[in-house]
Amino acid sequence: MDCLFCKIISRDVPATIVYENEYVIAFKDIYPVAPVHILVVPKTHIKSMNEVDDTNSNYIAKIYEAIPEVAKIAGVFDNGYRVICNAGEDGGQMVQHIHFHLLGGKHLGAKILRD
Ligand code: 5GP
Ligand code: ZN
Repeated sequence: MDCLFCKIISRDVPATIVYENEYVIAFKDIYPVAPVHILVVPKTHIKSMNEVDDTNSNYIAKIYEAIPEVAKIAGVFDNGYRVICNAGEDGGQMVQHIHFHLLGGKHLGAKILRD
């Protein structure tokens, strides 16, 4: 399958991996928009939020279990952070393997959207 994040999981494409367990990998976004910008990704190919169902939602639970650990490693656990999952074209999803952006390291403000 020609999927960038599957290739990062299989080590066919390099990435700066900051956390990994049986279900989840987390690596630095190559084009960070905040001092901390990490992608938290399930180690199974789920295309988007639209494909989450009873057969794979355990991976999403594992993502959310991993996020506080990744936040600790990244040094944003105490000050706070934001988690974003883009889905589909209007959601701005560019990579067709579900992923959760962990953003922090500065005050992100109260807005949900910002250009
Ligand atoms: P999306 O727009 O799909 O929610 O987010 C995809 C993210 O993947 C973007 O923030 C983009 O910077 C990041 N990205 C794209 N290609 C690569 C890559 O080759 N390596 C890493 N580490 N991140 C990437
Ligand atoms: Zn994939």
